[in-house]
Amino acid sequence: MADVRLMQASKSFGTTEVLRDVNLEIADGEFIVFVGPSGCGKSTLLRVIAGLEELTRGEVSIGGRTVNDIAPADRGIAMVFQSYALYPHMSVRENLAFGLKLQRLPRAEIDAAVEAAAATLDIGHLLDRKPKQLSGGQRQRVAIGRAIVRKPQVFLFDEPLSNLDAALRVRMRYEFAGLHKTLGTTMIYVTHDQVEAMTLADRIVVLSAGRVEQVGTPAELYAHPDTIFVAGFIGSPK
Ligand code: ADP
Ligand code: MG
Repeated sequence: MADVRLMQASKSFGTTEVLRDVNLEIADGEFIVFVGPSGCGKSTLLRVIAGLEELTRGEVSIGGRTVNDIAPADRGIAMVFQSYALYPHMSVRENLAFGLKLQRLPRAEIDAAVEAAAATLDIGHLLDRKPKQLSGGQRQRVAIGRAIVRKPQVFLFDEPLSNLDAALRVRMRYEFAGLHKTLGTTMIYVTHDQVEAMTLADRIVVLSAGRVEQVGTPAELYAHPDTIFVAGFIGSPK
């Protein structure tokens, strides 16, 4: 069980406040999508949840536990970046197993986790290839697989499809929806693509200059944007 809460979450770099009093309750199992223009703080917000950035003020909790002082590896989260960051010299199998080996899990357990993740993502036939022998979509699937093997309670995705071509982006969108259905895990997903947000999200969080502008279901935001900014981003064009 892992809900995610942000309470007055604020982050400054020097004198620049990049996140300002973000209050948000993300339910266990919810698919939440952060949208907003470039530079509005989406990645910083994910990094704060992941523990890769420390808050200047406020609190993050995961599964009811305050994690401000908990190391990223101990937060029960896994993050997938837009650049896949696969190890080029390792096979797909080794890439998937790498994090688990660091945790010193028994070999049989690692093999089982790798096989299960490969089956979920339909990459079982690619396990002995190197990343350079894969297409963009296959690489992205391996990157997601590396997150899945760790059985996180929360997945964080930072614009995971932005390096893919348009057709593949559409196909992968369905895969994310399927993955959420299969795993039932809390998913926090950043994109600047409105269609992606509308199709994937249980709720969308619209960010503007480090603040939450509006939170709601895709239908709510589309039909009843609170501000012109939200309307411009997701709202009905009328
Ligand atoms: P987004 O992902 O929405 O494009 P980011 O969270 O990456 O936005 O960045 C938000 C703002 O914070 C930007 O103005 C960016 O330049 C600034 N920023 C991000 N990381 C750092 C950092 N490590 N040091 C200084 N400024 C940063
Ligand atoms: Mg970003």
